[in-house]
Parts: sequence; structure tokens; C-alpha cells
Amino acid sequence: MEHKTDILSKSLDEIKRDLISMGEKSFRGEQIYEWLYKKGVTSFHEMTNLPQTLILKLESQYSIGTLRLLKRLISKDRHTIKYLYLLGDNNIIECVVMKYHHGNTLCLSTQVGCAMGCSFCASGAGGLVRNLSVGEMTAQLLITDRDISELGWGRITGMVLMGSGEPLDNYDNTLEFLHQIHNPKGFNMGWRSITLSTCGMVPKIRLLADEGISINLAVSLHASNDEMRRRIMRIANVYSIKDVIEASRYYFEKTGRRVTFEYALIQDENDKPEHAEELAYILREFPCHVNLIPLNENMHSSSKRSRIQAINKFESVLKSAGISVTRRREMGPDIQGACGQLKASFLNGTADFKTEEAESSNGKYQRI
Ligand code: SF4
Repeated sequence: MEHKTDILSKSLDEIKRDLISMGEKSFRGEQIYEWLYKKGVTSFHEMTNLPQTLILKLESQYSIGTLRLLKRLISKDRHTIKYLYLLGDNNIIECVVMKYHHGNTLCLSTQVGCAMGCSFCASGAGGLVRNLSVGEMTAQLLITDRDISELGWGRITGMVLMGSGEPLDNYDNTLEFLHQIHNPKGFNMGWRSITLSTCGMVPKIRLLADEGISINLAVSLHASNDEMRRRIMRIANVYSIKDVIEASRYYFEKTGRRVTFEYALIQDENDKPEHAEELAYILREFPCHVNLIPLNENMHSSSKRSRIQAINKFESVLKSAGISVTRRREMGPDIQGACGQLKASFLNGTADFKTEEAESSNGKYQRI
């Protein structure tokens, strides 16, 4: 079969260059970009202000995205939608949309699997399969955006890179994708509406700080000392908590964006009041924020969620020490909203799809 380039992997400048080499005018690039990013079309024939000759040229050279929707699950409270997508090479990725009073946030995947091997995580259980391309990340956003607007939810207004994968381990594609969707002529997502979550790849945090883009940074800490962190996160064998906090401080100084430290509370591992005191001490004098996450248990790990009393106590110790702290609102547990869980159960044939499941309302995305 003839290989076509995914146009969602191309920047506006690259599309313009391609148009010129086809003997076309470069302003057509802006029109195409607007159709792709503002209107979310899935066929060149929907680009009604382009001449037919150009549509045929585009069709012979490009595809628009390479994802296929496998499943769409809507939580009972109708605040969360989980999407499962099939990639061109039959790998599967997932993303989640969360509805907040201020808008719709997309949690997006950046890799198939993950190399980081955090002990509690379903996405990392099978290791890294491969990086996602710029086009595959873009397609997750555009297809999901179009789908939720057809459901009457409006547009996606914010994005967190917290799905499967470590975004900084797929640095170049992730950065190119972010520039692509930030482009005011395209999706026009503001830097401050984007949060990148990392397990703490120290040199890449410093690199990101120097990029001149003021996105929000969330750093997974999950421990109050290095020995504990090494038990929970493999990356802790490479970088100490001190290294991670120094890099985070550098990020804050360069971008002016307050850093959030994520802390998943694991029963009898990292959830004691003395751990909260230790955490407060290591974060002292750093204007950061701590986000406590009641652990999502999964079949790949024996880690258990902390008891509610332990979570309450942990939070109150941090607050008394003057640390800005919130508890992550739990979204979509009935649709396995935690990272990597839907994909894992789908592949094992154990998925429990009792919640509402629906085909894409425009019928464009074929289910298997
Ligand atoms: S928690 Fe994040 S970084 Fe750790 S293994 Fe899972 S996806 Fe990778």
C-alpha cells in the first residue's frame, strides 16, 4: 500500500513548504491548518474553500491522523469520558477527558507503555513499547475534541500530559506537539492551559525550563526520602530528591510557574505523619504546591490505597507546616480512569463496560 505522510505531524511552515513544492500558493497552508485544528475535519473533501485539484493532490500525499476509536466510555456521573484508540501498528493508547466547572481537560498519552517502571503503575508494567509521533499526539487531541463537542460538552480547554508514558522521555516529539497545538492559527491552546507531568528526569526538566514556554510542571515525588523513593520509583536510582527539587526550583525561577509535586499515598509505605513532616521539611522555602493522590489500585501491583484517616492526617500535617496542598479529585473510577488501567483490562479481556458505551456519533470512527 502506498505510504502517505500524516499531515498532523507537520507544522504550518512545513505544510506551506510542501504546498510551494506542489506548485500551490502558501496561503493555502493557513486554510488547511484552520480546517484541521479549528474545525477538526477528518477528510480533505470537507475543506470546502480549497479547489478540487488541490484536494486531490493533498489526498494522494497525506493522511489525516492514524488513530481509530476503539471504545468510548462515559462515567456514571457524566464528568469523565475515557477513549481507547488503536494506532496504525495495532498498539493501543488511551486518553481521558475530565469535565470541570472551568472547562474540559484532556489527559493525553505520550508513549505506548513506559520505561520508568514506577511500582504502582499499570502503564509502566509492560515497559516501553515506543514513542508516540507528533501526529499521534495531535490526533488524540483533535479526534477527542471533535467527539466531545458533538456530545455537547464544548471544546477541550486544557491538557495534562499524564496519560501513559513519560513525556520528557519522548522530548522532541512532545515539544513539537506542544508548539503545534499552541499555534494561534491552529488549536491555539495557551501555555498556561497545559501541564506536563514528569517522574523527575532532572536534565530534561532543566532543558524544558530553557525552552521559553511557560507550561505548568507537575513532578511525581511520591516519597519523602531517597530510600523510600527508590522502592517506589526506578528513576530514584538515577536522581536524588535533592536533584529533583533543585531542577524544579530552576524551572520555577526560569518560567515563573509554580511547580506541583504529586504524591500518591500508598498504604504503609509513604503515608505516615512523620513522612508528611519530612516532606514539609524538604519543600520548605519553595513556593510549590503538593497534590495528594489516593492511589488507584491495579492488578499489576500489590500497592494498596492509604486509609482515609491516614490521607486526612497526612494532609493536615502538610497544611500545619504551611505547605499549599490539595487532594486530587477522583475522576471516573467506574471507567477505570487511572493511568493505563482501561488498556490493561481491555487487552486481558477483563474490562467491565457496565457504564455507558457509545459509538462516535458521526460514525466516522469504526469500532472493532
Ligand atoms: S507513573 Fe508515569 S512515569 Fe511512572 S511508570 Fe507510570 S506512566 Fe511511567
